[in-house]
Amino acid sequence: MYDVAIIGGGPAGATCAALCAAGGRRVLLLERSRFPREKVCGDCLNPLAWGVIEQLGLRDRILSCTHSVLEGVRFLTIEGTAVRVPLPGGAYPELGLTRSRLDHVLLEHARSCGVDVYEATTLKALKRLPNGWRMESEAGWFEAGQLIAADGRNSTVARLLGLMPPPLPAERVAVQTHLPSPLDLGRDVVLQFLKEGYAGLAPVGADTANLCLVCRPGDLQSIKSWAATQFNLSEDQPWRSITPLRRAPLPATGERLWFTGDTARVVEPFTGEGIAYALRSGALCSDALLAENPGLYERNHGALYRGRLWVNQMARWACLHPLAGSALVRAGRYFPSIFSLLTRKVVA
Ligand SMILES: Cc1cc2nc3c(=O)[nH]c(=O)nc-3n(C[C@H](O)[C@H](O)[C@H](O)COP(=O)(O)OP(=O)(O)OC[C@H]3O[C@@H](n4cnc5c(N)ncnc54)[C@H](O)[C@@H]3O)c2cc1C
Repeated sequence: MYDVAIIGGGPAGATCAALCAAGGRRVLLLERSRFPREKVCGDCLNPLAWGVIEQLGLRDRILSCTHSVLEGVRFLTIEGTAVRVPLPGGAYPELGLTRSRLDHVLLEHARSCGVDVYEATTLKALKRLPNGWRMESEAGWFEAGQLIAADGRNSTVARLLGLMPPPLPAERVAVQTHLPSPLDLGRDVVLQFLKEGYAGLAPVGADTANLCLVCRPGDLQSIKSWAATQFNLSEDQPWRSITPLRRAPLPATGERLWFTGDTARVVEPFTGEGIAYALRSGALCSDALLAENPGLYERNHGALYRGRLWVNQMARWACLHPLAGSALVRAGRYFPSIFSLLTRKVVA
């Protein structure tokens, strides 16, 4: 019988697992994939993440991975007009770092803290017990007193418990790939409005860039054709895909039950904040679990997002209306301080 079972070994699950084990709990973690693995993400690590990375003692380890220190964001209209905003540098910069590298470092750290990590092991069934939970997976049955759902936006835990909110209308799809870095990219992130949606391009090391495309499902072929022409991609370029890009949040806790990272709350990807929220909510969840105080997690989890999401919601609106988004970027050429302010709000 474990004290804590965590489903999902992404940034939220691995962080929470490491800190619970460091706090003396017997921790089980089930992860569907075998790491290192890529996933649909823009690969941009918001500076908000550094506090937890330092708490885990992983600053040097993360910086020893191949990465790019990101220096600016270029916003592009549909026609290609650009506004560039510098990113704050210093000791806590924004990084371009592949998820295969970041997530592997975090999961290996959890293992080194004493977490029993089962990779390539999918949670398949859940049963409530009088004193905890029983979980079924390919690796057999496990039991634990507390259950932490960190299995992402399409959470199996939420589905098995009948807690998954119904899908929201007009949902979009995201696809992602890695490609050789275009020569003019430098160390900037490029966010381009397109008539179908938007594209995000970020360097993740000297020679490689991450490309994400977001659109409504019916526009997927058209936006991929745009990317193929723009970046000289072949027919067999491998793309990963994910949907939905948004859904209603879940309550942060239940009876012997905790939700963290994307499982608890999904944010629009345009502003590149999700990994930092996942790390921070994973850390807050472990604090409250060790203190046996679910109310503490509910309060701190709410405070983590409070007052921060308005830029994200503005970005979401602009992405759903790319013509209006482009008009905003054009206006930004005359009022660059507005874009600097919005960018600082996201990366501060
Ligand atoms: C297009 C796009 C671009 C984005 N770009 C950025 C960006 O640039 N910067 C940023 O900070 N954020 C970005 N995000 C958001 C970011 O990817 C997420 O917020 C982040 O991955 C959340 O971490 P997590 O640990 O909560 O969940 P995840 O990273 O999704 O991890 C969940 C883990 O659970 C595992 N799992 C799922 N089901 C099961 C199961 N049944 N059993 C066992 N394991 C299971 C999965 O394999 C996965 O490893 C982007 C998102 C999208 C869609």
